Amino acid sequence: MKITKLTSQKTISNSYLIEEDGFVVIIDPGQDGVVETEIDSKGYKPEYILLTHEHFDHVEDLEAVRMKYRIPVIASKICSERLGDPKTNLSIIEDILSYFKTGVIAEERSPRFSCREAEIIYEGTYEFLWRGHTFLFTEAPGHSPGCVLITLDGRYVFTGDYMILNEEPTLRLKGGDPESYETITAPLLNQMPDGMKICPGHGPSYLKGREGEAE
Ligand SMILES: [Zn+2]
Repeated sequence: MKITKLTSQKTISNSYLIEEDGFVVIIDPGQDGVVETEIDSKGYKPEYILLTHEHFDHVEDLEAVRMKYRIPVIASKICSERLGDPKTNLSIIEDILSYFKTGVIAEERSPRFSCREAEIIYEGTYEFLWRGHTFLFTEAPGHSPGCVLITLDGRYVFTGDYMILNEEPTLRLKGGDPESYETITAPLLNQMPDGMKICPGHGPSYLKGREGEAE
């Protein structure tokens, strides 16, 4: 198994490809065509798209990628519902949020967009087996209602906008909820054992408990 991290320039958001025997699972299609470019240059065969949450910087390329490769999307029920509305996927305020992330003012206004619902939807937790690997999805609201943590083989965790190195989680965006973060998500993150590989939606990956040695 090989994990590749791809970073879009627009909002410095991370997408990940999990590869096994030339087949790949995509975690968050992201922006700027980074996923398509990598898949096509390597000749990978994509099979599924998994989503950490519904925000534009993680799903702007979702429709292009799912149409091009004709593959299903797996998302929490809430995430799936919120993909379809520019007010809940936050593409309506993309340029303002991008400016805060990058300090660059967009030359052209970014289009608002909506995505179709996911083909495979779950609530609570969901275990997904793929080519000898186990993905475990766990709902983790707070940053947005549709957020989940995606654990792979009990060793890697794709955290979306949680556990970004040296950053407190953003709980103030529309749909953010500090109370559900404190009661549901913070305990899940705290219980995660040291040595887990943290693969966040922005910034470097690192081992929990060894943040100082981030790649
Ligand atoms: Zn987000």
